[in-house]
Amino acid sequence: MSESLRVWIDQDLCTGDGLCVQYAPEVFEFDVDGLAYVKDDQGELLAAPGARTDVPDSLRLDVISSAKECPGDCIHVVRQTDDVEVAGPDAD
Ligand code: SF4
Repeated sequence: MSESLRVWIDQDLCTGDGLCVQYAPEVFEFDVDGLAYVKDDQGELLAAPGARTDVPDSLRLDVISSAKECPGDCIHVVRQTDDVEVAGPDAD
C-alpha cells in the first residue's frame, strides 16, 4: 500500500493561474480572492492560508503533477507519517 499524503498551498506565492484546479478540482479550488486553496474530503473549501488536506489515493498522481508544475512553486505534498515533502519546492 502506498503512503498517505497530505497537501497544502502557500497562498503568498500562488499566481492564480489555475493549473492545480484543472488537474485536481476535487482537491483544489479558487476562493473569492482568486487564489487556490485545498478542500477537505467533503469538498468543503479550507480557506485558512496553508490549510492541509488528505490526498485521496485516486488523485495522488494528479496532485503530485500539480505540485511539480505549479508556476508559483507553492504546492507542498507531504507524507502523512513524517511530514517529509515528496513533491513541491522543498522536495529532494
Ligand atoms: S498551480 Fe500553483 S500557482 Fe497556480 S493556482 Fe494552483 S497553487 Fe496557485
